[in-house]
Amino acid sequence: MPLPYLLLDIDGVLIPFPAADGSTPPTHVRHTVLPTGRNSDDPVLVWLDPRQGGILTDLLTSGIVTPVWCTSWRKDATTIIGPLLGLPRFPYLDLPRPQITTSHPDGYLWKRDHVDIWLADAPAVWIDDDFTGLDHAWAAERTSRGAPTLLMQPDPHLGLQPDHLTEVTKWVARLSAARAA
Ligand SMILES: [Mg+2]
Repeated sequence: MPLPYLLLDIDGVLIPFPAADGSTPPTHVRHTVLPTGRNSDDPVLVWLDPRQGGILTDLLTSGIVTPVWCTSWRKDATTIIGPLLGLPRFPYLDLPRPQITTSHPDGYLWKRDHVDIWLADAPAVWIDDDFTGLDHAWAAERTSRGAPTLLMQPDPHLGLQPDHLTEVTKWVARLSAARAA
């Protein structure tokens, strides 16, 4: 069996939403970046926790998952966000660009149809702040048909926490043990 994929979102996960007063967590360092296709006079402010880079790197280099970016940052995840966090380079999903006004146009996360096809029957951990109940039902259905699927859903105002990654590590360990048995 292949290693489980680790699908990783950015907004609301590595970049938590700002507070109502616009403030960002003191743990997160602000950076001004220029996403692909954006005018140089219109950069974007992001905030990232350098310690998170270290914890994530430990997981990503542990050899227990195959990481893939799953974010509307698309390629910029690999060229902008990953390097700012000091992460090793890994691939990204080239998500479609649907004309939507909500992240749940059909009641579930807009990324999911693409992810579902891309994953086929592979086991996966997917970290995103924006799942709905239908996404959790999808994960349960995949798991029940032999494609173990763990959805991790950080609070978007807090973002990814060390406990989430501990849980990922434990889940992968249980999966490996179950396969070995
Ligand atoms: Mg998000």
